[in-house]
Amino acid sequence: MKTDVQIAQEAKMIPINDVAAKLGISDENLINYGKYKAKVSLDVLEELKDKPDGKLILVTAINPTPAGEGKTTTNIGLSMGLNKIGKTAITAIREPSLGPSFGMKGGAAGGGYAQVVPMEDINLHFTGDFHAITTSHNLISALLDNHIQQGNELNIDPRRIVWKRVMDMNDRALRNIVIGLGGKPNGVPREDGFDITVASEIMAIFCLASSLEDLKERVGNIIIAYRYDGSPVFVKDIHAQGAVALLMKDAMDPNLVQTLENTPALIHGGPFANIAHGCNSMLATKLSLKLAEYTITEAGFGADLGAEKFFDIKARFGDLKPDAAVIVATVRALKHHGGAKKEELGIENLEQLSRGFENLEKHIENIHKFGVPAIVAINQFPTDTEAELKFVLERCKELGAEAVLSEVWAKGGEGGIELAKKVVEVAESKQSNFKLLYDADEPIKVKIEKIAKEIYGADGVDFTKSCEKTIVNIEKMGFDKMPICMAKTQYSLSDDPTLLGRPSGFRVTVREIRVSRGAGFLVALTGDIMTMPGLPKVPAANNIDILPSGEIVGLF
Ligand code: ADP
Ligand code: MG
Repeated sequence: MKTDVQIAQEAKMIPINDVAAKLGISDENLINYGKYKAKVSLDVLEELKDKPDGKLILVTAINPTPAGEGKTTTNIGLSMGLNKIGKTAITAIREPSLGPSFGMKGGAAGGGYAQVVPMEDINLHFTGDFHAITTSHNLISALLDNHIQQGNELNIDPRRIVWKRVMDMNDRALRNIVIGLGGKPNGVPREDGFDITVASEIMAIFCLASSLEDLKERVGNIIIAYRYDGSPVFVKDIHAQGAVALLMKDAMDPNLVQTLENTPALIHGGPFANIAHGCNSMLATKLSLKLAEYTITEAGFGADLGAEKFFDIKARFGDLKPDAAVIVATVRALKHHGGAKKEELGIENLEQLSRGFENLEKHIENIHKFGVPAIVAINQFPTDTEAELKFVLERCKELGAEAVLSEVWAKGGEGGIELAKKVVEVAESKQSNFKLLYDADEPIKVKIEKIAKEIYGADGVDFTKSCEKTIVNIEKMGFDKMPICMAKTQYSLSDDPTLLGRPSGFRVTVREIRVSRGAGFLVALTGDIMTMPGLPKVPAANNIDILPSGEIVGLF
C-alpha cells in the first residue's frame, strides 16, 4: 500500500490560477506562492458581498481513538464527491501546525486518496501564516518585558503575566523557563514559558476576525497581565496592536490549494481545539460560501467539543447558518467504545460494535439539539467487515438517522459520491433550523452547566474553590457575557478520558477559567490541558529526509 506522501507526490496538480479561474477568481486577485499555492485577496469577498451564500456543511465526528477517525479525510473526499456529481464545492479546513509533524506520525492534510496538495508544503511552512502569528505574539512579549525594564509605569506584577511566548515546535523543555537573567542591562528576571503557536490567542483571533481592523481591535483587547492591584493590563496598554496588524496583513488572505482531484481547498488558520475553538478562519469560510455552492468545513476533536464550539462560538460570531452536519464514525472507534482493546480493533466483533454504538447515538442527538440535520458517514477502513458495516448502517436506520458509507480514503471522490448525494438531498430540502445552545448573556455557571448536561450528558458541574473566585472576578471586570470555550478531553463525552461509550451518572469538574478577551470567549478548563506538546521517544523527525532526487520520505 502506498503511503500518503507517495500518493501526494504522484498527484497531477494543475496551476493554482486554473483552480482559481474555475471559481471565477481572476489573476489580479491571486497572490501566488509558487505555482501551486496562492492567497486570495479579500477584495474578492468585498466584490461578492451581495451574492447569496452557498450551503454550509460541518464535518464532525464521534469521540475518536488516538489515531483520529478521518474528519479531514472525509471532508476532502466529500468535496471531491460533490464535484463528481456536478456541484461546486470547496473544502475549508485548518492549516496544520509544523511542530507536531516531527513528533508523532500523522499529518493534517487528509489521507489516502482524499488529500490536499502540495501536502508537504501544507504540513510545513506553507505560506508563512504561522510565522506571522509567532512573530506578532512574540513582539507583544518583547514589548511587555521592555515596558517592565523601562520602569514599569503600568505597575505590572511580573508574577501575574499571563502572556507566554510561542513557537511552532514541540519542545517540552521550554514549558517553564526563567528569563531576564544577567543583571540590570539584560531585563527583569521572571518566570516565563513557551506555548506552541497554535495555542496563541492571536491564532484564535485570526480565525474569528472579520477584517484586519477587527483583528486589530481584538488584539488590543487581549489581557496580557495583571497589575499589583489586580486590574488587567491589555495589549492596547502597551500599544502593540497596530504593529501586530501590520505583521498580520498578508496572513489575513485565505490560502488556496487543491485536492488530489484538482478541486479547490481553502486552508487558513488553525487554532487549538481545546483552549480555542478549533476551526479554520472565519474569512476563509465566508469567502468559500460566496465562491461555491457547497462549503465543507471541519471542527477539531469529536462533536461534543468541535461541533458545539463551531455552533456556539464560530457560527454565533459569524452569523453562520449551517445546513447540515456530517458525523464521521468508524467501526474501529465504535468497537473501542464498546470495550475493544487496541489490538482487537481490526477483528470483527458485533457485540463490541453494538455496545459502542451508543457513543454515536448521543452525538446524533446532540447535533439535532442545535436544529441541524445530521448525516452519519461511516469512514470505511480496510479492516472493516461487511457484517460490521451493515450493522452500523442498520442501527442508524432504526434510529431514523441518515447514514452512508464513505470510501474516500481508498477511492477518492468516486468513493464519496453516495455521501455527496445524501448531503445534497438533506441540504436542499432545507431541514436546518439552526439555533444556539445558550445565550451569551447568561451567567458563566449556567452556560457551562448547559453544555455539560445537554451535550456531555453530565449530572452537573463542580467548580473548584479557586475557580469560584475567578468567576466572581470575571463578573466584576464585566467579562462574563462571552460564550464559553470548553477545554476537555476529546476521548470521552465526559471529562474523564477513560469513560467510553455514553457515560452517565458523572459530574464535570471545572478547575480554571481563563479570559480570552481578544478572541471573545471564556475558556473553561477541565483536567490538564497541554499547550506545549513534547516529542516521543522516537520522533518522526528521525525518519524524515529529502533525497538527492528531491523525493521526500518519512513525512506521513
Ligand atoms: P481527523 O481529521 O479526524 O483527525 P484524519 O482525516 O486526519 O482524521 O485521519 C487520521 C488518520 O487516519 C490519517 O493518517 C488518515 O490517513 C487515516 N485514515 C483516515 N481514514 C482512513 C481510512 N478509511 N482507512 C485508513 N486510514 C484512514
Ligand atoms: Mg483533522
